[in-house]
Amino acid sequence: MTTANTAHTDHEHGDGCGHVAFPHGDHTDYAHDGHIDRESGGGWQACEVGGHTEAEGAHQHSHGAGCGHVAVPHADHVDYVHDGSRHAAHEDHYDVH
Ligand SMILES: [Zn+2]
Ligand SMILES: [Zn+2]
Ligand SMILES: [Zn+2]
Ligand SMILES: [Zn+2]
Ligand SMILES: [Zn+2]
Ligand SMILES: [Zn+2]
Repeated sequence: MTTANTAHTDHEHGDGCGHVAFPHGDHTDYAHDGHIDRESGGGWQACEVGGHTEAEGAHQHSHGAGCGHVAVPHADHVDYVHDGSRHAAHEDHYDVH
């Protein structure tokens, strides 16, 4: 198996595991060393949204330091937890991640 970036078995996320947990849709995401994990089938998988999905609706504010949303590192950018989704700045809009 060469899926070190997308799955791991050496750590169980949960209350007090030390990673930032936040709600995402119907599950919980954990920010883990620059990627984002969700439980899947009894293991942990990277929670990635395929393709390009723009966040619906206009943003009343710009996500950034102190905007009030939880910021989580994701690869080479930062996601902001916003109403159960993760938003990442992209050109003149936000993408759902
Ligand atoms: Zn953890
Ligand atoms: Zn997720
Ligand atoms: Zn924000
Ligand atoms: Zn992202
Ligand atoms: Zn947003
Ligand atoms: Zn985009």
